[in-house]
Amino acid sequence: MKILVINAGSSSIKYQLMDLTDVHHYTLLATGLVEKIGESTGRVTHKTLIPGHESQHVEDDPLPSHREGMSRVVALLTDPDKGVIRDAAEIEGVGHRVLSCGEVYSDTVRVTPEVKAAIREFFPLGPLHNPANLMGIDVAEEFFPHAPQVAIFDTAFHQTMPPKAFLYAVPYDWYTTHRLRRYGFHGTSHKYVTQEAADYLGLPLADINLITIHLGNGCSMAAIRGGKCVDTSMGVTPLEGLVMGTRSGDIDPAALEYIMGQTGMDIHQMINALNKAAGLKGICGVNDMREVVAAAADGTPLAETALELFAYRIQKYIGAYMAVVPKLHALVFTAGIGENSFPVRDRICRGLEHLGVRLDAARNEAPSREPREIQQADAALKILVIPTNEELQIALETKHTIETS
Ligand code: ADP
Repeated sequence: MKILVINAGSSSIKYQLMDLTDVHHYTLLATGLVEKIGESTGRVTHKTLIPGHESQHVEDDPLPSHREGMSRVVALLTDPDKGVIRDAAEIEGVGHRVLSCGEVYSDTVRVTPEVKAAIREFFPLGPLHNPANLMGIDVAEEFFPHAPQVAIFDTAFHQTMPPKAFLYAVPYDWYTTHRLRRYGFHGTSHKYVTQEAADYLGLPLADINLITIHLGNGCSMAAIRGGKCVDTSMGVTPLEGLVMGTRSGDIDPAALEYIMGQTGMDIHQMINALNKAAGLKGICGVNDMREVVAAAADGTPLAETALELFAYRIQKYIGAYMAVVPKLHALVFTAGIGENSFPVRDRICRGLEHLGVRLDAARNEAPSREPREIQQADAALKILVIPTNEELQIALETKHTIETS
């Protein structure tokens, strides 16, 4: 089944066209990024990935809206020379990454007017993403009118958290009236690596107990008990929890009032700073982990400090989640940093030997793109590295939803 996966942002559209049967049988036909929509010059980077016919095409033209962006994507996908399909009608389903629908849907759904209304209802809680995600759906409906549209929510996998994990200890009507609670994000990734870890370990999903550690530009962890999420580190927004590339993660809210008083920042400037100028970048000036690791290795003191904070916060969450997940089978590292940065995995695991976390240096440092284990041979607790694939998970869920609804 040919599925188009779309991740629409406020000025961008990321897409992948896949032909898939199941998790082990799929072909990535094309992938690309439309960026700078609404700016003076837009850019489309389109890659054809059919084996033997790989090519890359870059266009720089103004793209006033998502509609023009999507029209370029359709033209490139169906181009008589470099296209991968003859007609847009060959696309049998479109899967959309959507940030949040709060508690309304705890699973992937086919897009209906009600689903769109739910996405709209959560604009105030996902002001950067939900409007863009909905725009992506509207535009895709226009270009692929015959194809079912499916929404995959980043929050859905975390809907199994119990109230003691998702409630904030604040006046209860903030939850009942204003829907303030912890929702969690990166759900598609945590779900994908949970299933992959169960397959890797040869255990039924319903029996698997994990701590999944997604370390990309955004970072989050999830406690998985019996294959289901029972806690996660992000909150009502992705700002809570771990130290990230540019986000602070956990912070005393009273610190905001104090610094706003000292600097004259308003609340929007403050939240913007905590999202974009904090985390690794706030401490040492750079947010790309490769640069932070290189600077620390060169002896830059604040890069070392940033790495220490990054690893220490994750260690604390590992301790906390070990307390809530009995009979833990494995820690699972995933995403850009988790999959690739052996020095960061080493820093996180070092010092946790008393919790049974015993990393094997040679296995940790051996490069691979495959799911693998990196603990010492006789360690009871496995440490896994599992490459995530959110687009594949979205495509699989899109196919499943179309076939079953
Ligand atoms: P996103 O959250 O945007 O999907 P990724 O999962 O691609 O991001 O992760 C981006 C992060 O991964 C960046 O901090 C980048 O430095 C880091 N990263 C990617 N490759 C490596 C590598 N080989 N070594 C260290 N860090 C890496």
